[in-house]
Amino acid sequence: MSQLSTAHTPRVVFANGAIDQLAEEIHLLHKARILLISDESASAHAARVKAELGSLIRQTVTSVVMHVPDEFSSPITAKARLLDIDLVVTIGGGSATGLGKIVALDCGIDLLAIPTTYAGSEMTTIWGRTHESKKITGRSLAVLPKTTIYDPELTYSLPLAISANSGMNAIAHAVEALYAPDVTPDVKASAIEGIEIFAVGLRGIVTDIYSPSAREQLLRGSMLCGFALSNSTMGIHHKICHTLGGMFDLPHAQMHSAVLPWAAQYNQDFASEQLNEVAKVLQAPSAALGLWTLAKDIGAETSLRNIGYPIEESEKVADVIEAATFANPRPFERTAVVDLLRKAYEGSRPDDGS
Ligand code: NAD
Repeated sequence: MSQLSTAHTPRVVFANGAIDQLAEEIHLLHKARILLISDESASAHAARVKAELGSLIRQTVTSVVMHVPDEFSSPITAKARLLDIDLVVTIGGGSATGLGKIVALDCGIDLLAIPTTYAGSEMTTIWGRTHESKKITGRSLAVLPKTTIYDPELTYSLPLAISANSGMNAIAHAVEALYAPDVTPDVKASAIEGIEIFAVGLRGIVTDIYSPSAREQLLRGSMLCGFALSNSTMGIHHKICHTLGGMFDLPHAQMHSAVLPWAAQYNQDFASEQLNEVAKVLQAPSAALGLWTLAKDIGAETSLRNIGYPIEESEKVADVIEAATFANPRPFERTAVVDLLRKAYEGSRPDDGS
């Protein structure tokens, strides 16, 4: 049977200095009333864009809150409606893109994203918001940016620690895409190449944080991993991170980095072909050890203890995960899930899988 691709992607512009093409891209979308959202790190870029676009910019937001609490996004959405905004433009990390997605969704308008981290949200149909302190996520084509502008120069300022954890977050998308029930050849190729790029590029910026070639490669890697995330179904790793984020408000990228090796180990015998491929790309005896070693080498987080996870709550976490439905190669096994959480908490070296 031939395999049909149902992949969705934004129009992608990728080049050093590509932010200068923003006016042209807005023109191509036939938009005239813009809400510009930027995070604190992107304030200089936002000021330049604002000066260049002049009266096209009708509303600005210059700070964002992770996981988009409704009480933060609602007044922004209300004002956007009042001003008849027809395009949201975001410059910043996944939190800025995330706010842009919610405004786009609630107002029924288009989004153009300019990412400055490796989170990958700018490639996906996935939205997330926090309603009455509970994080909820969903998928909708309405939040897939119409256009994504990747400008590697905007990532030169990303500190090593944020780059490293954000990179591990991107790798997590790719690892889970590989064993997703709906993985396609396109997704598989993107995921493998994405992991390969991050393994090399993240070590590259440890040596030279301003390396233009490493920064360009890393942003390309985040595009590929974001594509893999958007076009496949995530498994237990994302379910655990979503649960921990919702229950304890742990920092997103660090949490992904600490949990990923142990989620890979949990699934090892149930998705051995795919995880052995990850190990091969990472030149390690097992996916778990390769992921953990990469995180260690680049200074990404390897322990949930360091980011405040209350280990005594693991049974409650397991209850929430057990009650959720998600696709994963290995069925839910309480003892093994609690053990996974303990290992991610301790952050010690996985064995070599032999
Ligand atoms: P973030 O956007 O919160 O950014 C982390 C920090 O880095 C912030 O302080 C930010 O100001 C700073 N920063 C961003 N770019 C910078 C730069 N170039 N130079 C210097 N500092 C910079 O974190 P994140 O990890 O990018 O995104 C996390 C959020 O994205 C979470 O809410 C997560 O749920 C969401 N996310 C969503 C998807 C999706 O598909 N919907 C995918 C991945 C992540």
